[in-house]
Amino acid sequence: VHPVHPLVGKTAGSAALHEEAARYLPGGVTANIKYFDPYPIAMDSASGARMKDVDGNEYIDYNLCYGALILGHGDPRVKRAVLEQLNRMGTTVLGTPHRLEVDMARTLVELYPGIDTVRFTNSGLEATLLAIRLAMAWTGRPKLAKFEGHYHGGYDQVLISVHPKRRSENRLPSVHPDSRGIPDYYLKNTVVLPFNDLDGTEEILRRHGHELAAVIIEPVQGGFIPPKMEFLKGLREMTRACGALLIFDEVKTGFRVGLSGAQGRYGVIPDLTALGKVLGGGFPVGAVGGRREIMDICAPSARSSDILSIGSQGKESRASDTLFHSGTYNGHPTVLAAGMATIEALRRPGVYAEVEKAAEALRAGMEEILKRNGVPGQTVGVGSIFNLVLDEGPINQIQDILRSELSLRRRIDYALLDQGIYVKPLNRFSLSTAHTPDVIEETLDRFERGVKQTVK
Ligand code: PLP
Repeated sequence: VHPVHPLVGKTAGSAALHEEAARYLPGGVTANIKYFDPYPIAMDSASGARMKDVDGNEYIDYNLCYGALILGHGDPRVKRAVLEQLNRMGTTVLGTPHRLEVDMARTLVELYPGIDTVRFTNSGLEATLLAIRLAMAWTGRPKLAKFEGHYHGGYDQVLISVHPKRRSENRLPSVHPDSRGIPDYYLKNTVVLPFNDLDGTEEILRRHGHELAAVIIEPVQGGFIPPKMEFLKGLREMTRACGALLIFDEVKTGFRVGLSGAQGRYGVIPDLTALGKVLGGGFPVGAVGGRREIMDICAPSARSSDILSIGSQGKESRASDTLFHSGTYNGHPTVLAAGMATIEALRRPGVYAEVEKAAEALRAGMEEILKRNGVPGQTVGVGSIFNLVLDEGPINQIQDILRSELSLRRRIDYALLDQGIYVKPLNRFSLSTAHTPDVIEETLDRFERGVKQTVK
């Protein structure tokens, strides 16, 4: 069931493109998350805080490619860095070690207290995948613990209990697959924990701690539900005590809640960290970093680097001695040039304070508008990301979101699209340095119109 798309009249181009897309792409999309009923809006161009769709409608963008574009669309410094890199190199990619990957690795080591050395990947998904494999290899243990409602990418090991069912407060989370095709093996070897619930987590870790290779967590759930300090600190202590590695999935929070991510903001240091999104400055990237001795197990020896080469099958070449990590485009210089330019821009004093001030102003304004229009709700967030939750109780984990007014929220989101605020329905709001005070003011006008249109 979906509300009538208020945009149907003015998004004929998106409708037509979706119909054509559905002939060649299952569901008409290349990623399931990009779909919404009755068809997603196809964008054509973007600049700063704004996007234009294929019909010429303009939107203030609060999706920002799922939080990746912290400098907004088409930041000139990022574009210049990419073009300069391409021109200087004379090619698009080298396929060999190069200067920029060393510079970027050093930058991450300087900024992230939990990172001694780094490996690059092409997505956040690959980063968490590698972090988990490192933990399995390091500990020799078979199981992984993850939190209910936490997303780490779309693969077997972690597509578990991301979209849980509602449960009563005195029950602990259950293990269930979020997709068809997840082998039973992963369901049997995954333990699901309740976020921000230290007692519940402790109870489960007491039972399973000895068989866990790692506990992986989004330190800020969904990028917007903040961790309770005693919970995060307690988790650090408990994982240390049971010998499981603590993996922070900072794909969303890295360079978002601060230059040093959630570990910098909260002062809790994981064993391994996964990064992505902002790090790529709008290009596909991921990175895994962590304690040197753990990371070192993926260092190739002369024997193991040959795993895919002819002649590596001999007795003396035991590739399995090391942890295999590879990727044609890992450490892509064009991508890293965009990332370095982004980090440089973010290192300017006061940048985070400014974006966070804009987010605070927007959140306060939205809450005021909800109140004025008799809609019970609040904004929940950290720094420059927040979500709109139509419930007035405390929001500590996914179960609290499931209890909120999701269908009204969806209707408001569709009205916001109609008013020219781009949010993926039910998704969070991300801000960028391009969301200046005048953009915030304009957003609030549009937001009020959207709310009035929904509840009139
Ligand atoms: N981990 C977290 C916390 C994420 O938010 C995402 C993507 O939204 C991922 C991992 C997967 O990253 P990617 O989409 O780059 O594969």
